[in-house]
Amino acid sequence: NSAKSKILEASNLTMRFGGVTALDSLNLHVNEGEVLGLLGPNGSGKTTFFNVITGLYRATAGNVSFRGQDLTDASAQEVYLHAITRTFQRSRLSLPLTVFDNIAIGDNRRLNTGLFFNLFARDQFEKEYDRVVEQVRALLLTFNPQLAAKIFEPVASLPMIDRRRIEICRALISEPDLLLLDEPSAGMTHDETAEVMNDILQVRSKIKPFTIILIEHEMGLIQRMTERCIVLNYGKKIAEGTYDEIVSNREVQVAYLGQ
Ligand code: ADP
Repeated sequence: NSAKSKILEASNLTMRFGGVTALDSLNLHVNEGEVLGLLGPNGSGKTTFFNVITGLYRATAGNVSFRGQDLTDASAQEVYLHAITRTFQRSRLSLPLTVFDNIAIGDNRRLNTGLFFNLFARDQFEKEYDRVVEQVRALLLTFNPQLAAKIFEPVASLPMIDRRRIEICRALISEPDLLLLDEPSAGMTHDETAEVMNDILQVRSKIKPFTIILIEHEMGLIQRMTERCIVLNYGKKIAEGTYDEIVSNREVQVAYLGQ
């Protein structure tokens, strides 16, 4: 539907690592407010796409724009300030620190103004600290009230599902407009993944209807969560459409589903 406005657009986006072309003149767009599934076999360029749009890698060629603004050469911090946040496939939590610490760090606009200083000089900055605590608590109460009750527990004491929730809350605490989820099911059962997805949908319906790009192999999750999907193979888009359309696409079946 061309009447929908685009939040993100990639044109001729190319990323090479030596002889490997991870993204090959990729053209795609993401609509405001949608949940877009990003699929493809291992090595097809999905994570590289996230790394390029979040400023971790600099594209070899092509462009990325966000609401019409060019973000191709933006730094990770600039991308973050444009309200794009992400989760990573592998856990990046500090296990000895608390749930609160691990989530608060995601609001890194505050890092520039000295969150750490505030935390270490608590008597001087108690007000600011209390404000951040309330902000994290409010997010957790919407996201998952059981986890809100564990706000000052160390992450090391919590099961995998809560750790995944914390990583997602770290990405949500700054109230992004675009959330990039890199395989949220990794290391969890189907039921656990479904629970965490429901938590995300809670925040989406109650706090802010942000756009999501979901990299995921679990097809049930793609079917339930996404309105549209894009399938990559060797860094190129080979199919685009609803879940039903892409699973019945012959090229996708050959490349990805091995049928
Ligand atoms: P996917 O997420 O779809 O599994 P990736 O984006 O991780 O695929 O990888 C796409 C291709 O780019 C692979 O061939 C991978 O080996 C290569 N690649 C990704 N990141 C790097 C890197 N930092 N250095 C070299 N090659 C990389």
